[in-house]
Amino acid sequence: MKNLWRDTEASKHKDILAERVYSSRLLGANPALVLHGGGNTSVKGSSKNIFGVEEATLFVKGSGSDLATIEAKDFVAVRLDAMLKLSRLEKLPDIDMARELKLASLDPGAPAPSVEAILHALIPHRFVDHTHADAIVTITNTASGEARIRELFGDEVIVLPYVMPGFDLAKLCAEVFPAQATPRTIGMVLMNHGIFSFGDTAKQSYDRMIELVGRAEDYLNKNAPLAAAADIPSAADWSALPGLRKKVSAAAGFPMLLRSNSSRAALAFARHPNIADISQSGPATPDHIIRTKRLPMLGRDVEVYARAYKDYFDQNSKAAKTPLTMLDPAPRVIIDPEFGLIAAGRSARDTQIIEDIYLRTKDIILRGEMLGGYKALGEADLFGMEYWDLEQAKLKKSGAPKAFAGEVVLVTGAASGIGKACVQAFLSRGAAVVGVDINPAVESLYGDRADYMGIAADLTSTDAVKGLLEQTIRQYGGFDMLVLNAGIFPGGKKINALADDEWRKVMSINLDSNLTIMREAHPLLKAAPKYGRVVVIGSKNVPAPGPGAAAYSASKAALTQLARVAALEWGEDAIRINLVHPNAVFDTGIWTPEVLLQRATHYGMTVDEYKRNNVLHEEVSSKDVAELTAEMCGVLFSKITGAQIPIDGGNDRVI
Ligand code: ZN
Repeated sequence: MKNLWRDTEASKHKDILAERVYSSRLLGANPALVLHGGGNTSVKGSSKNIFGVEEATLFVKGSGSDLATIEAKDFVAVRLDAMLKLSRLEKLPDIDMARELKLASLDPGAPAPSVEAILHALIPHRFVDHTHADAIVTITNTASGEARIRELFGDEVIVLPYVMPGFDLAKLCAEVFPAQATPRTIGMVLMNHGIFSFGDTAKQSYDRMIELVGRAEDYLNKNAPLAAAADIPSAADWSALPGLRKKVSAAAGFPMLLRSNSSRAALAFARHPNIADISQSGPATPDHIIRTKRLPMLGRDVEVYARAYKDYFDQNSKAAKTPLTMLDPAPRVIIDPEFGLIAAGRSARDTQIIEDIYLRTKDIILRGEMLGGYKALGEADLFGMEYWDLEQAKLKKSGAPKAFAGEVVLVTGAASGIGKACVQAFLSRGAAVVGVDINPAVESLYGDRADYMGIAADLTSTDAVKGLLEQTIRQYGGFDMLVLNAGIFPGGKKINALADDEWRKVMSINLDSNLTIMREAHPLLKAAPKYGRVVVIGSKNVPAPGPGAAAYSASKAALTQLARVAALEWGEDAIRINLVHPNAVFDTGIWTPEVLLQRATHYGMTVDEYKRNNVLHEEVSSKDVAELTAEMCGVLFSKITGAQIPIDGGNDRVI
């Protein structure tokens, strides 16, 4: 395991909190140590209170931050003596512990301290690092895991049996640590959970983490080496995936996204001869239980999975002291011999996290098998973690999801103007967005975020359309909404001068390509978990054409008619299709300041007068059109199809 510590870099960090941030980020930079918010760190120091008195203080990672990107403000200052006092209590339910941790915080506005804060306080060293390192989790999730850990680390680490994170774990540590710690102790392994390292300096604690986990990695490479997966052909029929997404969403009770991974390694795992056994033995760490749910679904029978999940809940919840709220019974991980691994989540980010976790879990399982058998926690412990009272409290507190959470929209012509504004309008409503454009800039328009995929494609090619729909299915499982915006507006030309080629080009892009997309997208829209929606960006030229735009006006009029027929034909599939007719939207690429000035002068107006030349004297922006478009996919328009809405500030020829 690579040690990322650099003295020149470290020396720039002058105080203990800055050093704490530096080495925490080094841990966070390695996904084999820390993945998506797992792990936590702390440092002990002091702080002066308002009375001028120095108080011993624990600076511990607050909830909601990630070690990879953590900053000083993400560490919560808590009174060390309060932590130690809490650890001496006989009993403390985790809900009460969470409240006490908040109360011990020196800043009422700070995030909640990590639930492992008391544990950090109990370890007498100044710097404490904690990770759920894959190598440690792998070894401790085997039948002879404890013996292997002792063989590997001897008296350098203390070993704690599995206890749920929270007060009970802190309590156990309070008993074991003072009894077993020796001057040789540099770490503590928590079975089925992770590892702690500690030291007097940030470097010492970090070095020890790398040293201990590195030793575990070497052990695995020697005793349980992972072979590279062979090339396996997949006969996946991607068109079946939107149907699976619909079933998963029905089981969940809300729309879900599916993200597939059909890499060699994923397919090899899905076709492992013992997959039915090894995949059903449980998640590798408490973290994973909460993120990926209890067990993956094998194959595609969602109803059977959901029934089994309800039975599991009913059986285990009987023992609970307080009534529990059941989580939705939809799977989060689906293992399929043709699709490979499929992650199901409420957002694109969730599906990415679940996929990342499971790709690591599969290696932990495979290596565990080589070490004599992967053995996760028992069902009671798994259930206890999944239905932890802190998680239940979170469930009750979570607010209403965004309007399009779990849904996907495909926007054409997304690289600029109205299309680009539509991407933003849908992202802000929680949808995952596929932006398509002939301009390759569309691919990098929003950087690297899970809820956006840009595809450069020529929509006049049927193959390209089929290809981008398959890409959408692989990434998100299907889609729910389609915004047909792509189109061209060639320079004004009277009919007398309109060449056949130009006419055909405009028709091909503005009309024909939309027929292709609509036809190919129909099965996907039909399989949308709630209902399919299409919004067509028409033009004021449909109700009120102008001279010099014959091809454009005719193409948009024909597109309008196509959409009206679709509204009639697709109603029985619960797909609604509506149109907007914008006019004079000037914040797009074609309207340079020069062109604007030229047109305004032509009509004897100032640019501002020209922009507001409508009944309401309002300027219409791309954002206005995009917001209306997004709303037309929302509940407000749930009983409307085939409607045409002008968005033009009022036009006397349209009214
Ligand atoms: Zn932990």
